[in-house]
Amino acid sequence: MYYILVILGWGQATIKNGSKSSSATSYLAPQYISRPSLHVLLHARVTRVLQTTPGTFRTVELVQDLNGPRFNLTARKELILSAGSIGTPNILLHSGIGNSSILASVGIQPVHNLPSVGQNLSEHLLLPFGFLVNSTNTYETAERNAPLAAEELIEWNTTRSGPLVDNPLSHMGWLRIPDNASIFERFPDPAAGPNGTAHYEFVISNGLLPVAPPPPTGNFFGVTSAVVSLAARMHFMSFIRCAGSNVFLDRWVSND
Ligand SMILES: Cc1cc2nc3c(=O)[nH]c(=O)nc-3n(C[C@H](O)[C@H](O)[C@H](O)COP(=O)(O)OP(=O)(O)OC[C@H]3O[C@@H](n4cnc5c(N)ncnc54)[C@H](O)[C@@H]3O)c2cc1C
Repeated sequence: MYYILVILGWGQATIKNGSKSSSATSYLAPQYISRPSLHVLLHARVTRVLQTTPGTFRTVELVQDLNGPRFNLTARKELILSAGSIGTPNILLHSGIGNSSILASVGIQPVHNLPSVGQNLSEHLLLPFGFLVNSTNTYETAERNAPLAAEELIEWNTTRSGPLVDNPLSHMGWLRIPDNASIFERFPDPAAGPNGTAHYEFVISNGLLPVAPPPPTGNFFGVTSAVVSLAARMHFMSFIRCAGSNVFLDRWVSND
């Protein structure tokens, strides 16, 4: 079996002054939070999006206490729902946006029949391999040596330099199995796009992945493969069938 390389390169990370950037540092740091056009509601939990006029959804319903009152906010222009791969379909389905017959069967009033909502959650499985190296210059050395780890932390805190600045995932590659692989005689190619995007990913790491207490001896580099184009999809509708009209995921996830 051979493979087709789509791309292989250095792992990219958004780091400034030794710190990784995140949505919080990039959009909610003090210099941005003071913008008059930005309002952040703390402890707000979105329960549904509501139809504002027929066919438009610009109203968001939220609670600040799970047993408290529900509040509505209506956007003048548009509403962007970005609650993650679980939260977003959960909110849409509880808003009545999804497969109408299933929603009606669990007591949710259907508002817009969109059967694909909650049908395409995919799990990118990882398979990590570790290889012994002669060098001691891998993350395992400090993971087994608390004083050294403390020194590295001080170095990072005082000078924003040293091993803690680095991304442990040094290289990444995206690869395809050949177009004439026998599996395509039984299944269609699940990769996205007309020009053949990757089927799987290789991540080359300093040290073993996942980063966990390392074995007592040895230094390693890791090669982890991940399936990035999946044929299998998880269906959120089965969760909805268990939860019924209860919008609060944490309540029913912990009970089931
Ligand atoms: C283990 C892991 C490793 C990953 N590694 C990588 C990687 O190396 N590179 C990469 O590009 N991507 C990676 N990803 C994927 C990446 O994290 C996601 O694609 C990205 O975070 C999605 O951003 P988002 O804003 O859409 O959703 P999220 O980051 O999931 O944000 C959704 C937010 O909505 C909030 N929320 C949910 N429900 C409600 C509600 N009802 N009311 C109010 N707020 C709510 C959640 O608390 C959360 O803060 C990884 C993901 C995981 C889990």
